[in-house]
Amino acid sequence: MTLGQLDFDGNNKIEASIALIQTWQPINEPYYLGFSGGKDSVVLKSVADKAGADYIAVYHPSPLDPPEQIRFIREYYPKVVFERGPIPFWKAFEKKGFPQRMKRWCCEYIKEWGGSEKVCLLGLRSDESKSRSRRCFVENDIKKTRFNKAPRTIINPLLKWSGRDVWTYIRENNLPYCSLYDEGFKRLGCVMCPLANKKQRLREYTRFPKIAYAWYRGFQKLYEMKKDKYESRWENADDMFWWWMGYEQAPDGIVYPPVVSKTFIFESSKVVWAQNHP
Ligand code: SF4
Repeated sequence: MTLGQLDFDGNNKIEASIALIQTWQPINEPYYLGFSGGKDSVVLKSVADKAGADYIAVYHPSPLDPPEQIRFIREYYPKVVFERGPIPFWKAFEKKGFPQRMKRWCCEYIKEWGGSEKVCLLGLRSDESKSRSRRCFVENDIKKTRFNKAPRTIINPLLKWSGRDVWTYIRENNLPYCSLYDEGFKRLGCVMCPLANKKQRLREYTRFPKIAYAWYRGFQKLYEMKKDKYESRWENADDMFWWWMGYEQAPDGIVYPPVVSKTFIFESSKVVWAQNHP
């Protein structure tokens, strides 16, 4: 189903999203619109504007987000509110250890808090993942988490949009988008996230050396702090880091520890650009 195709009510996807937003607009308060600077949130915000919605767009800044993403938000969406999390990520990292695919405590600390007792507008799409394919247009989120003690209502106006729909809308409406997409990144957000595949994580390691260095430092510190726990499994922090990245050791050609000089950043950008635009 394309962006222009009609549903049973005779609405195309844009009209259906607008109708949903208008129907659920809270009476005496604005929506809490989750804005990441990614392509979906850019579209969500634009559709909310078309719906005449009253909302506050909120970004949860993270030390793992690429600098390009943060600069993009500041430049093109200066009214977006930067709402800092209750506990800084690296502090939580020291306490909880490194996040893993099956133990990803960090989403709760970085992304998924906020919006308690509010009506939230999110840019989730069902074709993004299996778990998202089970989501609904309107959800009553009663799950209590460490930072969300009260329920919240979640509205997902873009749920049935495909990635192609999103790009079509961006082009047709001449919306700005983050430059990282032109480098071939399919999605924005946490650099070297354990949910991504190892090839992608390695690519991010070289493309974002400052964040790679922050991870490296985090692992060094963590290993020292919890040596009793880790030394039976890993000889040192470097082994632990590369195990976490999915490798036995730093692959050939990879600079380790990450170097954060300006020259290195320039060189690594050039490599990525050349790979994507042969
Ligand atoms: S997206 Fe990945 S790195 Fe970011 S908070 Fe979630 S699991 Fe952690």
